[in-house]
Amino acid sequence: MKKGTKLYSIINRKCPFCHEGDFFLSHPYDLKKMGDNYDNCSICNETYNPEPGFYFGAMYISYALGTALMVTIWVGLIILSIEVELFHKIIGISAIWLFLSPLIHSLSKIIWANIFMHYKTNNNLKN
Ligand SMILES: [Zn+2]
Repeated sequence: MKKGTKLYSIINRKCPFCHEGDFFLSHPYDLKKMGDNYDNCSICNETYNPEPGFYFGAMYISYALGTALMVTIWVGLIILSIEVELFHKIIGISAIWLFLSPLIHSLSKIIWANIFMHYKTNNNLKN
């Protein structure tokens, strides 16, 4: 994965500005610190919280990721011709979604951050 792309920051959970400092306090399944991010980057010192409530918008990303996951599983079951009762399908998909929700939550936060925060090379890092 090439440093300098938004995907690098998202996949490696790194600072959207320098791609070196950690973005989150812990991994997504550390339920006490789930989705909590540092206030500033430890490397470039840029703030991760530009304004109060900044990450409320990540709910839109979370909704899109959750819907995409559910539709993918649903269509996958249809394509693979796996016959499952509707009730069991809903329970199964909900269980998978519940298991993946910490990951979806942290992914949605860092995707949201990467929409508004941009990579700065060493040349323009001080701006
Ligand atoms: Zn940084």
